[in-house]
Amino acid sequence: ETFAVLFMDLDQFKGVNDTLGHSLGDQLLMAVGKRLKEAVRSSDTVARFGGDEFAILLSGSSDENSARKVAEKIQGVVGLPFRLREREVHISASIGIATNLISYESPDDLLRDADLAMYHAKGLGKARSEMFRIDMRERAFSRHAVEEELRAGLKNREFQLYYQPIKSLKSDRIVGLEALLRWLHPTRGLLLPADFLPVAEESGLILPIGDWVLDQACRQLKTWQEQHPYLQNMTVSVNLSNKQFTDPNFVEKVAKALSASGLTGPSLRLEITERVLVGNYLTANHAVAALHDLGVQMQIDDFGTGYSALAYLQEFPIHAIKIDKSFIHRMDTDPKGLGLVRAVVSMGRELGMETIAEGIETAAQLNELKGLSCGFGQGFLLAKPMSAISAEKMLAKLGA
Ligand code: C2E
Ligand code: CA
Ligand code: CA
Repeated sequence: ETFAVLFMDLDQFKGVNDTLGHSLGDQLLMAVGKRLKEAVRSSDTVARFGGDEFAILLSGSSDENSARKVAEKIQGVVGLPFRLREREVHISASIGIATNLISYESPDDLLRDADLAMYHAKGLGKARSEMFRIDMRERAFSRHAVEEELRAGLKNREFQLYYQPIKSLKSDRIVGLEALLRWLHPTRGLLLPADFLPVAEESGLILPIGDWVLDQACRQLKTWQEQHPYLQNMTVSVNLSNKQFTDPNFVEKVAKALSASGLTGPSLRLEITERVLVGNYLTANHAVAALHDLGVQMQIDDFGTGYSALAYLQEFPIHAIKIDKSFIHRMDTDPKGLGLVRAVVSMGRELGMETIAEGIETAAQLNELKGLSCGFGQGFLLAKPMSAISAEKMLAKLGA
């Protein structure tokens, strides 16, 4: 007989656990289990697979269509609000479906395919179901291959940092450099973060890679400062991903990178997005305060794209906000775009934060920003990201 397996993973479980605590997280899992059992027939089997993953075996001539219908029903019941200790919690689920219409050698293989389909559902935006297809195995393989190559790349020192100048719009002088990761791949050439960061983040490899970035950026700026005393006030900005920021050893790693290189705290700036900051409220509070004590300054990256509530700006010691390039690009064409940038610049001024406009590409944008008294800017018009060798040449000329 045909049967189907649904592999389900809750989309926001980690967030619930982090913000509401493990005991509410456990209650949520139990409540989900109960709804699942009520949603299927008594001849079907519901199992908790581990963590926030559930597997459901639909037996008795379950073809693809009926499996899809059950998956939809499950999405429906999981999507209804849960009441846990006076709180209303909303979640969704991603579901992968595999049936034995493909012949399998072992139950593990079928579960693996259902899991792959679930991953695919997550990749397509979560809160949905996907039926397994053979080509999903190839994708999984290529993700695995990139992961292996990343590991080798780290060992073989294939990563590089490029540096993009950040300029004062008042004095036109370079005040800082943003370190941007590049991968000189042995066969595919120079790769941009978009080509490999998603795999690095998913696999956790972003942790060792991020450690390298932090160390390298500190060492490099310190070397330049030693060569050219006029670079004492130059800063280097390092981008952080969610996993790095929530790494319990993160603050210690920053302290080590500073002491190993001899760079002073105020020369280092860390860029994080609003989502990362607000999404990890408790850890963030502790980490940001400890970094502040080291003299390291925090910048909000891609400001305006992630979060609608602004209260967090008051609660964390934030030094600068980087206005996302999408707003800068809209400035020339859309009067509302200009209004938005003006509002952000004046908000920054009120809150005592610097504002850095990202992605400046045209002279018109630059002039508008100067007119708004936006303090700092970055973008292809001012300077492109460049290799360490080119950056070194450029910095050497600044003293002349
Ligand atoms: P981001 O932090 O917003 O960095 C700025 C990106 O905008 C860079 O892309 C830069 O090359 C690009 N850019 C600069 N000026 C202009 C401009 O005028 N117009 C346009 N259209 N783009 C401009 P890149 O280097 O490809 O980096 C992409 C993203 O990857 C970064 O966005 C950052 O989120 C992430 N990233 C880069 N390096 C690291 C790293 O070391 N660690 C982590 N975790 N993420 C990194
Ligand atoms: Ca950045
Ligand atoms: Ca940015």
